[in-house]
Amino acid sequence: MRMIKIFDTTLRDGEQSAGINLNVEEKLQIARQLARLNVDIIEAGFAIVSPGDFASVQTIAREIKGVTVCSLARAVKVDIERAWEALKEAENPLIHTFIATSDIHMKYKLNKSPDQVVAMAVEAVKYARGLCPNVEFSAEDATRSDWDFLCRIFGEVIKAGATVINVPDTVGYAMPSEFARLIRYLKENTPGIDKVSLSVHCHNDLGLAVANSLAAVENGADQVECTINGLGERAGNAALEEVVMAIKTRAENFKADTRIVTEQIYRSSRLVSTLTGKPVQHNKAIVGSNAFAHEAGIHQDGMLKNRMTYEIMTPQSIGLSQSNIVLGKHSGRHAVKNRLLELGYNLDELEIEQIYQRFIELADKKKEVTDSDLEALVRNEFQAVADRFELEYLHVSTGNSTIPTATIRLKVDETPVQEASCGDGPVDAVYKAIDRITKLKVKLDEYNIKAVTSGEDALGEVTVKVRENGNAYIGRGLSTDIIEASALAYLHAINKIIRASNK
Ligand SMILES: [Zn+2]
Repeated sequence: MRMIKIFDTTLRDGEQSAGINLNVEEKLQIARQLARLNVDIIEAGFAIVSPGDFASVQTIAREIKGVTVCSLARAVKVDIERAWEALKEAENPLIHTFIATSDIHMKYKLNKSPDQVVAMAVEAVKYARGLCPNVEFSAEDATRSDWDFLCRIFGEVIKAGATVINVPDTVGYAMPSEFARLIRYLKENTPGIDKVSLSVHCHNDLGLAVANSLAAVENGADQVECTINGLGERAGNAALEEVVMAIKTRAENFKADTRIVTEQIYRSSRLVSTLTGKPVQHNKAIVGSNAFAHEAGIHQDGMLKNRMTYEIMTPQSIGLSQSNIVLGKHSGRHAVKNRLLELGYNLDELEIEQIYQRFIELADKKKEVTDSDLEALVRNEFQAVADRFELEYLHVSTGNSTIPTATIRLKVDETPVQEASCGDGPVDAVYKAIDRITKLKVKLDEYNIKAVTSGEDALGEVTVKVRENGNAYIGRGLSTDIIEASALAYLHAINKIIRASNK
């Protein structure tokens, strides 16, 4: 069995896609989960892009052990220096440098001749190898590049010390059979290619990112770059969960395996969806809410007789637990601690106590506290955003014949401040009252509400995207009361604005 390396770029390619904005703490939370998932490489960011990106790469490099941590860098000295500066404390650092190799990119974007591009790539790789033992080189827009030119530039960077060669289908243009041929061609015609890892990075513009990645694996690729939930530029990247479960389910076809702990897949998907505010489509392969739901009577009948009739993989294999042991207000600390451990949260005594208090409050309001309730509590409790504004009191009166009115009391730096406002609806009234207290000019771009758990006493989760001074911030709030969840989400975003402006 060949081992295929999984290179996760959720925090770089995924994070740079439209409408996603994660802070350092959120990226660190995702990186911790990626380490539990056991990916081989975490691409933590593009260090030179912004101080925030730099801080994220540096924090992840310092804190996450047992996995390679990577930063992207253009094939120029300043980028590579910045990447190394952020990565140097990593247990196993990797500099990922790239330059475009297609005629259209070289001519219009870089304004360089092919010879100049080869020279830049070689110089960049040499420089990076002088700093870091592992260097990956990507030929941007490889699938629209001349194949012989690719063999030439790859051969030269391998000589210069590259340890990984990456073939990106940057614009999602390739067809699986053609991509397979390209991979074979590169393996047969690139000098020194058998000494390095061959990686692929596919985009999903034609819905073929996973198909192309798998075609590459069948034809000798050693590494797949992908993201949780298929996040990424435009239509996204190859979805990690789909690539991994395809290789696992059809191992006899691929004669390959990955090191991924597949039981962590579902949790990873949920965490990324919650922190990015991007819901997963219901019929999404592997992690969609319907992916394991059998509705048709004839299917259910078959399933009852033998699960294999309609199930090619089990929900347990991606960490969807069938066991529905329910926690409630009679559950003690020990039960809560055990369940948290099963869910992958290894908290210290103080943290357990904090969560337990929140658990008791919740168990008082709803009789069953489910796994997703508990995970939501943990996320909510350890969001780690220092809060300037805290909700103390909220009263709303609304109806079909009254003007919705909200009275709000916030703790502002420990001092209570009260305001009231009318609005078009109860949430609008609450937000206007909050605006009066914070005196910030905040524009609400998106408002989403969903039930994170089931039943009539379910927890509601509100996600908002607000804009202030041209920057976007995502806030989340959780409560059994949707108006309260709305207020908490709005305040969560506002506290992020305050923190960003203090920096
Ligand atoms: Zn990409």
